[in-house]
Amino acid sequence: MVGPSSGVAMTDNEIAWDLSLIVGDASMDEVKKRMDVLVGEFKEFSDKYGAKIATMAAAEIATMLREREALEIEASDLINYGMLKFEACSTDKEASQLNSWARETASQLDQLGTPLEIRLGTRMSEDEKLIDHADLSDYRHYLERLKAEAPYRLSEEAEKAVIQKDVNGIRLMSQLQGAWVSEKTFDVEVKGEKKTLSYPQLGALRMDPDRDTRKMATVTLYGDLAEDKLLHSMALRSICGDHMSMVKIRGMPSPMTQSLLDQDVDEEAIDTLLSTIESTADSFQEFLMLKAKVMGLDKLAGHDVIAPITTDPVWKFDWDAARKVVTEAFVSFNDEIGGVVEAMFTNKRIDAANRLGKTYGAFCARHAGARSSFVLVSFNETMNDVFTLAHELGHAAQGHVTTHKQTLTNWRTSSCLAEMGSIFGELLLTDKLLGMSKSKEEKMEILAHVLGGYYYTVYYVGLRALFEKSIYETIASGKVIDAETACELWNDAKKRIFADSVDWTEFMEYEWARIPHHFIPNFRFYNYSYSFAQMLVFALYEAYKQEGESFLKRFDELLGGGNTKSVRQHLKDFGYDLSDPAFWELGAKQANRFLEEFRKLV
Ligand SMILES: [Zn+2]
Repeated sequence: MVGPSSGVAMTDNEIAWDLSLIVGDASMDEVKKRMDVLVGEFKEFSDKYGAKIATMAAAEIATMLREREALEIEASDLINYGMLKFEACSTDKEASQLNSWARETASQLDQLGTPLEIRLGTRMSEDEKLIDHADLSDYRHYLERLKAEAPYRLSEEAEKAVIQKDVNGIRLMSQLQGAWVSEKTFDVEVKGEKKTLSYPQLGALRMDPDRDTRKMATVTLYGDLAEDKLLHSMALRSICGDHMSMVKIRGMPSPMTQSLLDQDVDEEAIDTLLSTIESTADSFQEFLMLKAKVMGLDKLAGHDVIAPITTDPVWKFDWDAARKVVTEAFVSFNDEIGGVVEAMFTNKRIDAANRLGKTYGAFCARHAGARSSFVLVSFNETMNDVFTLAHELGHAAQGHVTTHKQTLTNWRTSSCLAEMGSIFGELLLTDKLLGMSKSKEEKMEILAHVLGGYYYTVYYVGLRALFEKSIYETIASGKVIDAETACELWNDAKKRIFADSVDWTEFMEYEWARIPHHFIPNFRFYNYSYSFAQMLVFALYEAYKQEGESFLKRFDELLGGGNTKSVRQHLKDFGYDLSDPAFWELGAKQANRFLEEFRKLV
């Protein structure tokens, strides 16, 4: 039921998760002991197999991988236990201690595990036929991926030298850039009140319902980035320049190669995605025009693009209403998924309380031993919160299907496919809420939310990939990346997506400097997978609407496919060709249907 909030404050306990599902009644010292024992077992494991990988038979490699899976299930649960406790309440001393033990354990296991994977990749590329052995069939694609990385690896000494030079090179540049902005404070006036704000606090005001406040926050923040342009552009030049050198040294065919290997996708698919983003941007521009109309403006300014469309929301949900509407949305899809979502509530796997020290945002984390999940959200009775809840529970649903179909090595999915359950869940909720809407205002708020999210992710996030591509092209042509060049490239990318639909606010050509992803070393092209996922799920939803029942079985296969095939192969088996623009346009079609309804209401 949706209606006025009951007004009864929820006690923390009522909507807190029960992490004892992971470790039972073990004390924190007992948890620490189990972490230490586990690190010892991993060490034994790596001593036992490390030197033998070059000569092991297929059956023994399969045994090794199964042994590792058993260890990893326990490792994942112990590490998550410490981290989740901390995310729920960072001010708790015990949680803080458990978290640092968890991180230490994770890093030790990583150091033990990575060399084994590198050797396994080398073995697969030296022994061409091994990968086809029947004993390895469960791990075939995993091994193919290790093999695909092998040609770009340097010698062990060279790899060590790379890690060393990064510590005082690009990692330091990245730290400097991050620390520089995070230590800033801003003396500003907010709605007549003088305040001193941190960088994130000022950043959050860019989305304030009050237009003057948004403008102030936008101009102050980007003006500050402009003032420090030397620092930000040098950091960008260093990190991107280093990347291009490493691409050459490793013999990679493209600046995108590492990202494509990580996401298990090919460049042709991404190029088709990016060109579809450009060729369908007119519907985004139309949405921005309609948004301006709703907001009573002739045209949006830069500081209006991510603003809330309404200052006076009509939807409000108490926790019981949220639980009911989200569960019913998933049940409307099918009973199994509906049951998984229902169980997340009844089994105390959701932490929705608002408490001091709780992490900002929302996530879904896996509970490997139980083949289940935990979800963290902060619930404040808004429609956004209900969508976030549906999103994270959709992750839990996808996790359920995958972990019951695959072994642990194949659980992790490319980011391009990791949002299928979550965004699909949001769309089920959208239809559910549209069906319940009685007034024009109610409908409009839902459509503005879902369209705003879609367009932001596909186009505004998508244009970062266009920008990044142009940065590498510029470096390859021998030009230096300085602040003016970066701003010019950013404006070019923006122009390709926004055309003339927005009057950009002063200093917004420095947006590239605000986006932390641009400064993460050794992790390039972070953003296209978000656009990919969003467009894919809109396409899938369109197919679900067209096909009904017959869609369910195919979707179940895709949802639970994990890491057993490449992204292209997964979708080919489902019936989609990633090189065909018609596939990408399917997603745009679903968005257009929402846009059409929105247009009627404006
Ligand atoms: Zn997500």
